[in-house]
Amino acid sequence: MRVQQLASHSLIFRTHSSSRYSVAALIGAIELDERLVELDVQAPPDLSLKSVRYAIERGQTIIAHSVMSTQTERVYEEVRKIRKQFGNDVTIIGGGAHASIRPKELLTNGFDYAVVGEGEVAFPELLWQLMNNKSPSEIPSVIAKTTEEISVPKDLPIVDLDSYPPFALKTNILGPVEVTRGCPFHCKFCSTPFLTGGRVRHRSIESITNWLKLAVEKSGFERTWFLSPNALCYGGHGRKAEPEKLEVLLKSVTKIEGLDEVFFGSFPSEVRPEFVTKAILDMLRGYVANDTIQIGLQSSSNRVLKLANRHHTVEEGMDAIRTALDAGFIPHVDMIFGLPGETKEELHDSVKLCYDLVEMGAKTHGHVFMPLPGSEYEDAKPGRLDVESRRLLGELSRRKDMTGSWSTQEGIAEYLYSQNKESQGSSED
Ligand code: SF4
Repeated sequence: MRVQQLASHSLIFRTHSSSRYSVAALIGAIELDERLVELDVQAPPDLSLKSVRYAIERGQTIIAHSVMSTQTERVYEEVRKIRKQFGNDVTIIGGGAHASIRPKELLTNGFDYAVVGEGEVAFPELLWQLMNNKSPSEIPSVIAKTTEEISVPKDLPIVDLDSYPPFALKTNILGPVEVTRGCPFHCKFCSTPFLTGGRVRHRSIESITNWLKLAVEKSGFERTWFLSPNALCYGGHGRKAEPEKLEVLLKSVTKIEGLDEVFFGSFPSEVRPEFVTKAILDMLRGYVANDTIQIGLQSSSNRVLKLANRHHTVEEGMDAIRTALDAGFIPHVDMIFGLPGETKEELHDSVKLCYDLVEMGAKTHGHVFMPLPGSEYEDAKPGRLDVESRRLLGELSRRKDMTGSWSTQEGIAEYLYSQNKESQGSSED
């Protein structure tokens, strides 16, 4: 006897290492939405044609990608393959940083819809509308081929972090807890201000603690990390530290039974140098399990920092590094080589500073400047190293005194530069 299968709705959310934290948060938002309980959600690290075919045989199939600007080549190629194989039997949605900046580009590359800005509200709503054969044109942050007015993230309502989970407990896609979103600084190399706005929002201590307790209970969480553009700004408006509020948070999460280790201020978070004080780090030391603290210094030149609108000096950076060492942390110092306006001499000074930092007991994290869409430096030339700098940075990496993908970023920076020029050309047409 042939068993008749019930028509179903499937969401295949392609997960990649570059987007796994946003996938975890968005699937968490779907899990919370009672209207979507019937939706079969998968988050595979690869898109297998077989699983897409199987989903189509069972019913409506939606494929989603969270698209970073550095990943467009790979994502567009995958979308082309899916379209070639399955035509309009699938609906393809794109979100994430690149969708927020160039939504129409996604549509011309095979996507049906692009979600601009924060996805926690818009993405579940879009899924629900699609599952009910409605037109999602009323959702302001959803861009379709027919959309004429393109929203920008800053004009859209901002998400209250407490209303959504930091990860997807039911699907067991976990990640760091995003404690802070938004940044009041406008470093010109960074797209965060464009994407999440200048208003800083924090997840409340109660919400963080509750989700972590659940993660311990249901997923056997033993350690946790946090996600923040500037971890030491927790609890305040983003321009200065609020150590008392930070301590209440740390006290609360380190009390959770079963959660053995709490990592705060280390990767994937970072701290701005002028927020680092001996008192704060001594307090942190009493709670956290991390040995390192991630400090954004970015350049050895005050001139380059000023040009980049960084709002701190090299001296403040060096003070923060010394303070971290005194407090028993290993400073893990972020540096960007080839920032716009940097001279050859300044590049060499930054590379030399990395050697000095290692000598002091720090580790370094190297980047090559990439003209990120949405950043103020979007139209700037890509960072380029010379042979000597490449050799010296390679030596640091080999000695494990430098982490980071600086060598692949040189190629990505060139790619972004050519894409930015192309996009400029098409918007001028
Ligand atoms: S680099 Fe950090 S401090 Fe600067 S704008 Fe981006 S998130 Fe804010």
